[in-house]
Amino acid sequence: MTVYRGHVVHIAGAPQLPDADAALVSERDGALAVDAEGRIAYSGPWSGMPASLAADEVVHTDAYLLPGFVDTHVHYPQTFTTDAYGGGELLEWLEHCVFPAESRLADPAFADVVAREFVRRRVSAGTTAALVFGSAFPEAQDAMFSRTLDAGLRVVSGRGIQTVGPDSAAALLTSEDAAIGLAADEIQRWHGADAAGPASDPRRALAQVALVPRFSLSVTRETLGRLGDLYADVRGRGVYFHSHLNENDRPGDGEIAAVRALYDVDAYLDTYDGRCLPGSAASGESLLGRRSILAHAVHGTDRELHRLAETGSSIAHCPTSQLFLGSGTMPWRRTAASGVTIAMGTDVGAGDEWLIPRVLNDAYKVHMSEEGEAAVALGPAQLLFLGTLAGARALDQEDAFGNLDAGKDADFVIIDPAAQPGFAVSLEAAGAGGIRSELFTLLMGMREQAITGVFVRGRRVAAPDPA
Ligand SMILES: [Zn+2]
Repeated sequence: MTVYRGHVVHIAGAPQLPDADAALVSERDGALAVDAEGRIAYSGPWSGMPASLAADEVVHTDAYLLPGFVDTHVHYPQTFTTDAYGGGELLEWLEHCVFPAESRLADPAFADVVAREFVRRRVSAGTTAALVFGSAFPEAQDAMFSRTLDAGLRVVSGRGIQTVGPDSAAALLTSEDAAIGLAADEIQRWHGADAAGPASDPRRALAQVALVPRFSLSVTRETLGRLGDLYADVRGRGVYFHSHLNENDRPGDGEIAAVRALYDVDAYLDTYDGRCLPGSAASGESLLGRRSILAHAVHGTDRELHRLAETGSSIAHCPTSQLFLGSGTMPWRRTAASGVTIAMGTDVGAGDEWLIPRVLNDAYKVHMSEEGEAAVALGPAQLLFLGTLAGARALDQEDAFGNLDAGKDADFVIIDPAAQPGFAVSLEAAGAGGIRSELFTLLMGMREQAITGVFVRGRRVAAPDPA
């Protein structure tokens, strides 16, 4: 048993977003006891720790102990593509910057360089769990899964599926048959790959797999139909579905207009919901469900939001990326009111920050800046909820991580204000106003350098050496 002594801060229990504030726990002289299996045996006041929990070691941190951050949308093959100038919005940026950059991962040696840096950035940012938009190339995916497991992080990922696209995407495209075959093969190779023993549950493994068509414009009705059939076969094993939705609404030739014109559907979401025939007529199996996460959902209709909520699907909210690509702002009040689970995504490389608190910082600002009565000041407990527990819920792994409740896996970060110049003084001043103002300053102001320890299942995560 190892006990970490410090300021324990988390969202306890399993609250809904509006109840996050009431669930905020702050123990200034707190203890987090981690057993030999990497589970949390106790979290709470240091003075209240049961004597029966004999500590082999006490780690005095003089720092904050928070749950690990959860990034529900990040692109591994775009690790080196942040701050790339595409001279336009989403579709221009994809064609001019992203497709050529992602094509470079066809070289396995370069892919391994990217995989190492990708894992390093995640460790630096304290992102213990991530839903990772993968590379088109199976060997690149192997490098990413291997490096991630070597480090000890959680990952859900799948190769980016594209069966149609512009010339600059040529290297990323496959035939319809290959798209399905490679996805099935990746599930076979990596879904639950680290799960121990024949009876172990892949849904609790560190490494899990998703079906990941880039978006409806990168595939066809045939691809979506066959992915639906495959998903019907594998969803019982906990395989995920992940893609983009309603990101760019430029009139005429933007993403949403193009999807609706190409498929002749009433709403973009219908293409993922087994309704991709003209008029949104039924075409096959739905890809929505408890392990389905759609990135962005900036411009959804009420019917789409209702359908996401009703199927238990989640939204990966990526305000940093939306600022970069001029995609607009997800309407906070309307989206939250639908009851859909909202979690946070960096969307690296359209997002240029790896640290989930930096994305929370942007979320606070963009929703504060919504028009008129739509404007909202997200509270500090809600921000913490969005960056931790909501992410675990979106990944349907809330029973395993997302907060520091006893019985969960010990996925946590040590945040030491002394490691970031000036930060301790800021936090001390904010703390005079109570834990909420202190937590707000912590989340809005922290940078990677303040993260001095990252743990998954109680084990300190080790970043690979730089390439
Ligand atoms: Zn994305």
